[in-house]
Amino acid sequence: MDVSHILDPLNDAQRLAVAADAGNLLVLAGAGSGKTRVLIHRIAWYIETNQARPNSILSVTFTNKAAGEMRGRLEQLLGYSAGAMWVGTFHGISHRLLRAHWKEANLVQNFQIMDSDDQYRMIRRLLRAMALDESKWPPREVQWFINGQKDEGLRPKDISSDDDFHLEQMVHVYRAYEEQCARSGLVDFAELLLRAYELFRDNEHLRRHYQDRFRHVLVDEFQDTNTIQYRWLKLLNGHEGNMFVVGDDDQSIYSWRGAQIENMQRFQDEFRDTELVRLEQNYRSTATILAAANALIANNSGRIGKELWTDGEEGELIPIYTAYNEQEEARFIIENVMDWHREGHRFDEAAVLYRTSAQSRVFEDHLRRNNVPYRVHGGFRFYERAEVKDALAYLRLSAFRSDDTAFERIINTPTRGIGNRSVEAVRAKARENNISLWQAMTDILENKLLTGRALNAFQNFINLIDSMTLDIENTEELHEVLDAIIKRSGLIAHYKKDTSGKAEDRIENLEELVTAAQEFEAPPTDDDEPRMDPMSEFLAHAALEAGEGQADIYEDSIQLMTLHAAKGLEYPLVFLTGMEEGLFPHQRSKDDIRQLEEERRLCYVGMTRAMKKLILTHAEVRRLYGQETYPQVSRFIREIPRELISSVRFGNPESSSSSDEYFDEEPHKQGLGLGQRVSHNTFGQGVILNLEGSGSHTRVQVNFEEVGTKWLVAAYADLQMV
Ligand code: ATP
Ligand code: MG
Repeated sequence: MDVSHILDPLNDAQRLAVAADAGNLLVLAGAGSGKTRVLIHRIAWYIETNQARPNSILSVTFTNKAAGEMRGRLEQLLGYSAGAMWVGTFHGISHRLLRAHWKEANLVQNFQIMDSDDQYRMIRRLLRAMALDESKWPPREVQWFINGQKDEGLRPKDISSDDDFHLEQMVHVYRAYEEQCARSGLVDFAELLLRAYELFRDNEHLRRHYQDRFRHVLVDEFQDTNTIQYRWLKLLNGHEGNMFVVGDDDQSIYSWRGAQIENMQRFQDEFRDTELVRLEQNYRSTATILAAANALIANNSGRIGKELWTDGEEGELIPIYTAYNEQEEARFIIENVMDWHREGHRFDEAAVLYRTSAQSRVFEDHLRRNNVPYRVHGGFRFYERAEVKDALAYLRLSAFRSDDTAFERIINTPTRGIGNRSVEAVRAKARENNISLWQAMTDILENKLLTGRALNAFQNFINLIDSMTLDIENTEELHEVLDAIIKRSGLIAHYKKDTSGKAEDRIENLEELVTAAQEFEAPPTDDDEPRMDPMSEFLAHAALEAGEGQADIYEDSIQLMTLHAAKGLEYPLVFLTGMEEGLFPHQRSKDDIRQLEEERRLCYVGMTRAMKKLILTHAEVRRLYGQETYPQVSRFIREIPRELISSVRFGNPESSSSSDEYFDEEPHKQGLGLGQRVSHNTFGQGVILNLEGSGSHTRVQVNFEEVGTKWLVAAYADLQMV
C-alpha cells in the first residue's frame, strides 16, 4: 500500500508520531506545530496500512467546528467519506453512547438534553419550591456548584458536608435537582459526561465491548480535558492501551470549567508505556507573530517549556490600533477587512476575536450596515433564541409528555388564558405527588380541581399537544412535522405581534428551523450502528450545537468568535480586539495570578491563530454594561517586545506613530494624585477622585464644585494644581 501521500507532507518528528507502533503516545507541542495534522494523518495511516477499520476509530476534539474540520480534512486525505468513524466532541460522543444504552445508563429512552439556560431555570424553580431565598442561594451559584461536582465525578452521596451548613444545603439542592431531572427525563451537559463515565464504570460487559471496538482512540486538545473526561478515557483505554493524545499546556483555557493541565503529566504516569513526541517547528505564523506570542507566554510560570521556531517569512510588524471608542474600533476593522477583500482575499480568511461574546454586537451592527457577510461562532446560538426554543419545546412535549422544562416554556406561550395561579396549582400537584407537570395537569382536569374556565383552557392545551403527537406519528419527514407543529402552535401569529422590530427575524428563524430539520433526514451512513431516529438526533443537535447563525455556511463571510471558540483554528488575518485592562485580561481575573495566567494563555491562543497578519486593537473609551469606562491598555500589549509592533492611532490611520507610547511610564501624571485640588478653565475648582490609564492616555475624574463629577483626559484638560 502506498502511504507516501500520508507521510510525505510531514517533518521527521511528525512522521515518527504518525507511524509509531501501537501503544500510548503523547504529542506535546506548541501552537501551529502540526498536532492536529499529525492526529489526522495518524488515522489515515492506520486505515491505509490496514491496521484499523474505520469503525474502530474514535477521535475526540473540543468544539463542533473543530470536529467538522477534522472530518473534512480526513475525507480529503482518504478520498472517501469518514462516516463510519466516530469523530466528535466529548459531549456529542457521550450523548451517542447514552442514546444507544439508555437502559444501562438508567435513563428513559426519550431523555432530552437541557442547555445551560434550561438548567438555570429549572434550578430557580426548584429553589422556589424549596422555599430557599434567592439572595442567599443564587441560582447561578447553585448551578456552578452542581456542574463543578459533576465535573469531578461526584454525586450527592459522595460529598461529605462535615457539619458545614452551607455545603449541606447545597448538596440537598443537588439531590433534589437530580430527582427532578430524573422525573422529567432531562440531562444537562455535565451529566452527559458523568453518565457516560458511569456507564463504562458500572458495566463491565459494555466497557469490554467498547474497549474491543475502539482500538484506536485519538484526542485533540488534551490539555483541556477535565477529571471526568480523563477517567472516561482511562476506562476506555483498558489493558492494552492504544491512545494517541495531542496537546499544549500553554493553550489550556478551560480551567474555569474544571480542565486540568495536570492530565498531561498524569497521562504519562498512569497510562502504560507512554511514548512522548515533541514537535518544535511552527508552520502557521510569520516569524514576527511567533516571536510576539513566544515573548508573551514566557511571562507565565510553571510551564512545561517548549521551543517553537519557524523558517517561514519574517512578516509584517504587528499594528496596534488605538481607537477612540468601540464604534471606531469596529469601523477600523471593517475598513481593513474590506481593503483586504479588495486586494483579492476572501472574507473568510479574516477572523475577529474578542474576550466576551457581548463584544460581538457592535461588530455585527457595523458589518450589517456595510453589507459585509459575517458569521458568529460559539456566541449567539440560533438554538437559544426564544422563538426557536418555543417551537422545539412544542416538539419535545408532543414527543415526550413528562418533559417539564418544555411544559413550563409553552403552557402559556402564546397566551391561552392559563393564568399563573393555574400553573402554580399544577406545579404544587406535581411536587406533592412526585409526578410530571403534564400528569398533574391531567389529574387536575379529571378531578375538576379548578374553575371551569381554567379546566377548559387545560383541555384545549391537551388537545393541541395531542394533535401534534398525531402529526409526529402520521407525517413522514421531520421537517414536515416541524412545519405542522409550528403552524398549529400559533407561534407565528404570536411573534408577528412583537413590536421590538424583531418580528420578521423571529418568523424567519422559525422558518429556518424547518430547514434545519431537513438536514437530519439524510439516509444513515453507518452500517453496523444503532442509528438515532432523526427527531432525537435533531433535538440533541439543537441542544448541543453552539451557535451557527447569520451568513449561510457556504457564503464567504468574516468569522467572528470568542477567543475560547477560536481554539485549534487558523486564519490569514486575525484581529485581536478589546485589548484593555478589565476586559482582557478580564476584570474577574486581574488579581489572581492563576487566573491571570489563564488569560495570558488565552491571549497566546488568540495570537497564534494568525498566519500572515495579526492586528491588535483597543479603545480609549468603552461602553461596558451601559457605562462609559476609560480602560488602560492591556498589559498583554506591553508584554510584546516593542521592536515587533507598530502603532496606528485613531483619526489618522495613515500615520504610524512611535510604538513607545505603550511603554511610557506615566509622564503625564506628574503631580496629579487622588485628593489633589485642581482648577479647570471652564469647570472651575474640584478634587480628583480617580485616575486611570497612563502616559498620554491618563484620565482623571474630578468632582467639581459647580458642575459635579467629570472625566477628563489629563493631556488636554490643562488642570492646574491649587
Ligand atoms: P494548535 O495548537 O493551534 O491546535 P496544531 O499544533 O494543531 O495547532 P495544525 O493546525 O495541525 O497545528 O497545523 C498548523 C498549520 O501548519 C496547518 O495549516 C498545517 O496544515 C500546517 N502544517 C503542519 N505541519 C506541516 C508540515 N509538515 N508541512 C507543511 N505544513 C504543515
Ligand atoms: Mg490543533
